[in-house]
Amino acid sequence: MEGPKSKFLRVKCNDCENEQIIFGNATSKVDCTVCGRTIAEPKGGKAVIKTQIIEVLE
Ligand SMILES: [Zn+2]
Repeated sequence: MEGPKSKFLRVKCNDCENEQIIFGNATSKVDCTVCGRTIAEPKGGKAVIKTQIIEVLE
């Protein structure tokens, strides 16, 4: 059994460098709150992160 994947991630937008916290298994698309760039997209029950991950928050 793997541990829970309900982690939060601190990410930085590749375009505008805005940092935001997103849910590690987001089930809907997440956009940068500043410039609208795609930050994460759901795939197979977990999020595919499309930008830099700064930190994983337990
Ligand atoms: Zn941005």
